[in-house]
Amino acid sequence: MKICRFNGNRLGLIVDGVVRDVTSALGGLPVQPWPLPLGDLLIANLESVLKRAEEVLPDAPAIPVCAVRLESPVANPSKIIGAPVNYRAHEAEIDDALRQGHSVKPIAEWGLFLKAGSALCGPGAGIDQRFLAERTDHEVELAVIIGRRGTNISVNDALGYIAGYAIGLDITLRGPQFQSFRKSIDSYAVLGPWLVTADEIPDPSDLEIGLEVDGVLRQHARTSQLIMSVPQLIAFASRFYTLYPGDVIMTGSPEGVGPIRPGNLIAASVERIGEMQVAVRAAASEGEENEAL
Ligand code: MN
Repeated sequence: MKICRFNGNRLGLIVDGVVRDVTSALGGLPVQPWPLPLGDLLIANLESVLKRAEEVLPDAPAIPVCAVRLESPVANPSKIIGAPVNYRAHEAEIDDALRQGHSVKPIAEWGLFLKAGSALCGPGAGIDQRFLAERTDHEVELAVIIGRRGTNISVNDALGYIAGYAIGLDITLRGPQFQSFRKSIDSYAVLGPWLVTADEIPDPSDLEIGLEVDGVLRQHARTSQLIMSVPQLIAFASRFYTLYPGDVIMTGSPEGVGPIRPGNLIAASVERIGEMQVAVRAAASEGEENEAL
């Protein structure tokens, strides 16, 4: 199934290319007292919500996908995990302009990084680009959404912890700062256009992935070229931190990363998930700087 959040926390199923509004299926979610448990309530209860959604589907209003504002299908991940340099051809393209004084190490040695939860947005919100005098790059990635809590997960068991998949954009300010800092700017973690449940993608190891900017192809690869596979990433991450329902793993960007500017329209796609269009704007506080450039 394809599950979307849209128009201010409404819940939708994508059926035959249209959004069916099944928001009433959220009525069964448990009411949580403070403190809220870590993780995303919807993803933690996805099975029961989807069961209700199927029940209300026959009477659910239908809305064209192009008429809704798509939000991140995960609202409250406890963490967004990033995988640095996880495609060999991307490793090979890293020159001084990309490196910016950083050393480039194998992912197993370097480890993973975290993006702030406050950076998360859906495709409908678009990217509010800051620091316009500096270079900011697009990175299209297969995003994995964890479905249940787990720690020290084995590679063999890892696929069983996945709720679904989405397209991720790991938007990246280039510079000498820590990755967790310069990749955590508001709106620099785009997730969408919807969550495709894991049963629709039983094997994520050979999916076509691509990204265009203003109709020009910039990135095109297959997930078979990942250095650390999806199960290996889950096992690796869970040796360090417990994974919670709704946690997002952005699995790494293939080669072809390149700069974006306000006014650009990004079209990102992953096979069996779909495509999402994401507009790039100048962040409000950058308006004056933008005019000066
Ligand atoms: Mn990345």
